[in-house]
Amino acid sequence: MPTPRYIGRFAPSPTGPLHAGSMLTALASWLDARAAGGAWHLRIEDLDPPRCVPAAEAQILDTLAGWGLHQDGPLVRQSTRTAAYEAALARLGAQLYPCACSRREIADSSVHGIDGPVYPGTCRAGLEGRAARALRVRVADADITVDDRLQGAIRQNLARDTGDFVVRRADGLFAYQLAVVVDDAELGVTDIVRGADLLDSTPRQVHLQRLLGVPTPRYLHLPVLVNADGEKLSKQTLAQPVSAADVDALLDPLLAQLGQPATGGGALERRLARAVQHWDVGRLPRTRAVLWQAGARPSASSPASSAAVSSGAEPAHQPGQARGGSALEQP
Ligand SMILES: [Zn+2]
Repeated sequence: MPTPRYIGRFAPSPTGPLHAGSMLTALASWLDARAAGGAWHLRIEDLDPPRCVPAAEAQILDTLAGWGLHQDGPLVRQSTRTAAYEAALARLGAQLYPCACSRREIADSSVHGIDGPVYPGTCRAGLEGRAARALRVRVADADITVDDRLQGAIRQNLARDTGDFVVRRADGLFAYQLAVVVDDAELGVTDIVRGADLLDSTPRQVHLQRLLGVPTPRYLHLPVLVNADGEKLSKQTLAQPVSAADVDALLDPLLAQLGQPATGGGALERRLARAVQHWDVGRLPRTRAVLWQAGARPSASSPASSAAVSSGAEPAHQPGQARGGSALEQP
């Protein structure tokens, strides 16, 4: 059987313009796909309408085009995929059950896990007359191991670390965990390159992949960029927007944060071609977070040393990132 060809994707939420952190993910996922001779899809994760900003999608598309990161295939929007998510819920069938608990009730009656309170299983045996709110999927008391290309082996026992988790929320929206698994399976994604803030949710996605009978892709979780206060760059932490006009100034600094060599000058297409040619996963910093150092860079000609600086800065700049026990520790 021939090895399936590489299919990658970038999946931003249209909650605001791209910033250096999301641009880093876009760039790395594009480079990894192109270096493998693969396809690169674009999906707008507009699952949560109240959080979406109307102008953001157009800004994101304009920025990616201006950076020369052109997608394959049609743009996918999660807001158009309701039927596929409903079909997945139907397939999960008896693995699902309704839950009547409020957030408060769960917080009061449970221990803290890798991503908030561990659901104690209150509604597993029935609602006893209470009104259903969310839908949960049963998890097993067994280890799930994800062999990340960069972060190494991540092991979780979902019964202990999360409990049965939500696939449709109390407000009726589909949970991210479900949507991302269904969408990646439909695109035939073989390789997911995304930020390490999603590392801890990966075993839940693998659990859903197994229940739905779809393949588990390979994962590469990049370090997230953090500011001088150790906060992940985001709209909430007032990260500077990145636009098409920033490509000349930011392409090499972003590559340097990824441990990759500078592209030098010249036309954008040639610079990107050089970046593809030199793309080396072995040079990525093996951490969950790196300090964003735009402007503080003496020269883009020493990527190895900037990667070392980034790694060295990491322990002080990842508050709450290394939870979950020894399986999640850095080597
Ligand atoms: Zn419940």
